[in-house]
Amino acid sequence: MTEAEIRTYRRRLLALKKQLGVKLSDLEEEALRPVGGEAGGGLSDVPVHPADPAAAEYDEQVSIGLLETEAELLTEVTDALARIEQGTFGRCEECGQEISRERLNALPYARYCLRCARRIQAAAGN
Ligand SMILES: [Zn+2]
Repeated sequence: MTEAEIRTYRRRLLALKKQLGVKLSDLEEEALRPVGGEAGGGLSDVPVHPADPAAAEYDEQVSIGLLETEAELLTEVTDALARIEQGTFGRCEECGQEISRERLNALPYARYCLRCARRIQAAAGN
């Protein structure tokens, strides 16, 4: 991989990290807001009863669930940036082969080549 290519991926990862950082703080705010504090808000098509503690608790669970996913993605992006610093970016962590450009263009934080990713995903699904 050339220096110019690395720089391009680095720029994309940094932009993604910034984007995720902003989203993350929004969700954090959402998750930390006291339950039932904002009765009668938007979302008119969702049957939410603010007085029902179970429903409020469910909303909180959904917010926290989202936060975990965003945080995981942020970890992937941060790790990819670390791999750029270490000079191992673009190599599969499993087999050591170069990850294809197509894959890196779609997922600049890809940790594994497509073959290993599929194998790992299949193993996790069992
Ligand atoms: Zn691999």
